[in-house]
Amino acid sequence: MKKENINLYLAAPRGFCAGVDRAVKIVEEAIKKYGPPIYVRHEIVHNKEVVNSLANLGAIFVEEVSEAPENSTIIFSAHGVPKQVYSEAKKRNMIYIDATCPLVSKVHNEAQKHYALGRHILLIGHKNHPEVIGTMGQIPKEAVTLIENESDAKRINVPDKDKIAYTTQTTLSVDDTQIILNILKERFPNIKGPTTNDICYATTNRQIAVKSMTKFCDNILVIGATNSSNSIRLVEVAKVNGVKNSFLISDEDDLNKFLKKYNCKKSPNIGLTAGASAPETLVQVLISKLKKDFEVNLIEHEVTKENIFFNLPKSLR
Ligand code: SF4
Repeated sequence: MKKENINLYLAAPRGFCAGVDRAVKIVEEAIKKYGPPIYVRHEIVHNKEVVNSLANLGAIFVEEVSEAPENSTIIFSAHGVPKQVYSEAKKRNMIYIDATCPLVSKVHNEAQKHYALGRHILLIGHKNHPEVIGTMGQIPKEAVTLIENESDAKRINVPDKDKIAYTTQTTLSVDDTQIILNILKERFPNIKGPTTNDICYATTNRQIAVKSMTKFCDNILVIGATNSSNSIRLVEVAKVNGVKNSFLISDEDDLNKFLKKYNCKKSPNIGLTAGASAPETLVQVLISKLKKDFEVNLIEHEVTKENIFFNLPKSLR
């Protein structure tokens, strides 16, 4: 039977960012250097394939430092950790290696700098996300308030409106964050902060690519985990920008669900991207699966090039 034709637009950039790439290499190099097992606090990045492959090499994933034995080696995930986690590892006489993305560390430094200058910090981000917990844990809890949405920004009362600053989670929606920032800047004209926001280059570029695909794709597939903030944002960005169907594909079942509803005659253009923690192998697996059912015309849709690279910590170079 003749297969139907589809146009598959592949977003570029997509998938692994420099921070995720570095975090994964840190675990691999630490296992080589210190030998297994190496403990990793929290999923090193939010992707189960990546976590499973590192577990096969000898990484053991724990949620708290106290779950790893004293004197062992532990790695902190790319999302960053509160300060007390470092002290706890020291107390337990552990070797710890910090895989916090340098762009998250930059936000930690900003928060500490504002605190040192006596400013109350408004952190724009999602409650309970590990990155937000890590950033809030850089300063005393009474010095920071979490702003999750527009209504928080409209309602927040601050101790001194001339002594406040903002920082943001790195994986937010660029457009939603701008709306929140506009509200805060209008209410508190003297608020201090970065020139734009702290959303990282990888989150921004992946959102730009998805936004531009919404102009000609009725369906956009985002490969990523259900707990991956930047992947979920990509699905939202596609929807907000008018795409009919936008799906997070976290496993084969999700793809099958999409294919059941998909009408290739009506919508032959599919956009495909991957969150910053999803490896390219998953993209290629999905393409192969689509090729079984369709005649796939693969079109690279590149909006910008990325050439960011972060060095490994000195102890692993
Ligand atoms: S998504 Fe951005 S902040 Fe997060 S690890 Fe990647 S580069 Fe770093």
